[in-house]
Amino acid sequence: MATGYFSHPDCRRHDMGPGHPECPERLAAIEDHLIATGLDVALQRREAPLADLRDLERAHHAAYVANLKDFMEQVAASGERRAVDMDTVVGPHTWTAALRAAGAAVAATDAVIDGELENAFCAVRPPGHHATRSQAMGFCFFNNVAVAARHALDVRGLQRVAVVDFDVHHGNGTEDILAGDDRVLMVSFFQHPLYPYSGDQPSAGNMCNLPVPAYTKGMDVRELIEMIWMPRLERFRPQMIFVSAGFDAHRDDDLGQLGLVEADYEWITRRVMDVAERHAKGRVVSCLEGGYHLGALARSVAAHLRVLAGV
Ligand SMILES: [Zn+2]
Repeated sequence: MATGYFSHPDCRRHDMGPGHPECPERLAAIEDHLIATGLDVALQRREAPLADLRDLERAHHAAYVANLKDFMEQVAASGERRAVDMDTVVGPHTWTAALRAAGAAVAATDAVIDGELENAFCAVRPPGHHATRSQAMGFCFFNNVAVAARHALDVRGLQRVAVVDFDVHHGNGTEDILAGDDRVLMVSFFQHPLYPYSGDQPSAGNMCNLPVPAYTKGMDVRELIEMIWMPRLERFRPQMIFVSAGFDAHRDDDLGQLGLVEADYEWITRRVMDVAERHAKGRVVSCLEGGYHLGALARSVAAHLRVLAGV
């Protein structure tokens, strides 16, 4: 069985303006590197479908989804950009891109549960892990991973899923949506203090948060993962694992000050796969979150994919 690679050209049309780090070139850099390394032939490409509004409403308030739809359609009609907050901007193509990003996560979940794919990576934007039940923020509109996790539970009937978030920023949106849902265990590490300045006190027992100070290196993160994440994941025995795969904890990334390198992403992915193989029939769906240094992003995604694809 193959590793799926879900993406869509619409995800490159979402553009938050000149100089914005969450830029369309991120996906181009990943694609180019996969071709240059020959890794693309090991992946099964799938086109990301548009998410259904019902899919989004499993993670977000219906009124939030409806209001965002109205707003984004107005922006699309106007042809101009409008900011939601200081760094989260809606452009004419954002609505479609956001539906593709969440749709990729849902379709990947179905393909993996149906046994068509062993696991899958969604090369999508906008990212999702800062989007709360009712607020767009931090470059995120819909919480792709939370939407997919709820789909696996509510629609596909799984009883326990884990969310692993290794982005440098706290996945406050995912925590907001999934805190207290005991069918979910979320494990994360993140630089603290750093945007969005939350997560140091987990809001519920199903949240396993590891705040780490600036300049923490990969080896120290690995030790924490081994000591704290792994026993929790083993005890929880997830039937599927969702990954919020942000690569901005890389030492070359300017949005954070952590010191991870490609080998650390390879190691983390291996540990996630170990749990998935023991308890979840190998079922992993990973969605791109952050990662803003184009070279480091492309190399780190490749390291992640090499482990997922077993090549
Ligand atoms: Zn991030």
